[in-house]
Amino acid sequence: MTLPLTESRLDPAQAHVRDVIEAGAGYSRLIKRGSVLRIVDLEGNQAVDTLFYNAHDPSDRYSATDTIVAQRNLYLTTGTRLMSSQGHVLLTIVADTCGRHDTLGGACAAESNQVRYAIEKRFMHSCRDSFLLECARHRPQLGKRDLTSNINFFMNVPVTEAGALCFADGVSAPGRYVELYAEQDVLLVISNCPQLNNPCNAYNPTPVEVLVFEPAQVTT
Ligand SMILES: [Zn+2]
Repeated sequence: MTLPLTESRLDPAQAHVRDVIEAGAGYSRLIKRGSVLRIVDLEGNQAVDTLFYNAHDPSDRYSATDTIVAQRNLYLTTGTRLMSSQGHVLLTIVADTCGRHDTLGGACAAESNQVRYAIEKRFMHSCRDSFLLECARHRPQLGKRDLTSNINFFMNVPVTEAGALCFADGVSAPGRYVELYAEQDVLLVISNCPQLNNPCNAYNPTPVEVLVFEPAQVTT
């Protein structure tokens, strides 16, 4: 399988923000219109569950179905426009050295841990819990009802010929990144997936890094 890879021309040393998200942790920040967001898979094969909202109207948020329909492709990579539930472009993927990102697999939860793995997995950490904790701590305007479709950056969930989803080994590697241009002010919420029961993150959650290049840095 050959995936299209596009490198960035931006220098990480010029980034305005460089934050490491520890394995299994939550994270959120405002990304201003015209900025570029880079997410780096520091150790490889990590899954970065991500939600995006219109910063001024969180009821207008990332929609997997609208994004898939708009680009007529199930996987996300360079050129993908991330569409909102109200038909606006939130961000565009402008560089990608991984080549494929999932938006079908959803976020792991206590319920899915039980159904997919075992009853006793119910109390393990999950992305849905991380999203709720992050929102409760830092984004109180968002609650359970706001957790809709998400992106799983660096996660490989191929669709089989029969139409089933298959959680497969990651296609990422240490230092691979994806870069997104913010078409408007967006709120970013991440769960750096704590999942220990499937191969998407090699059964071993690891840290990732978030970089933000502000508009002035992007245009120079
Ligand atoms: Zn997860």
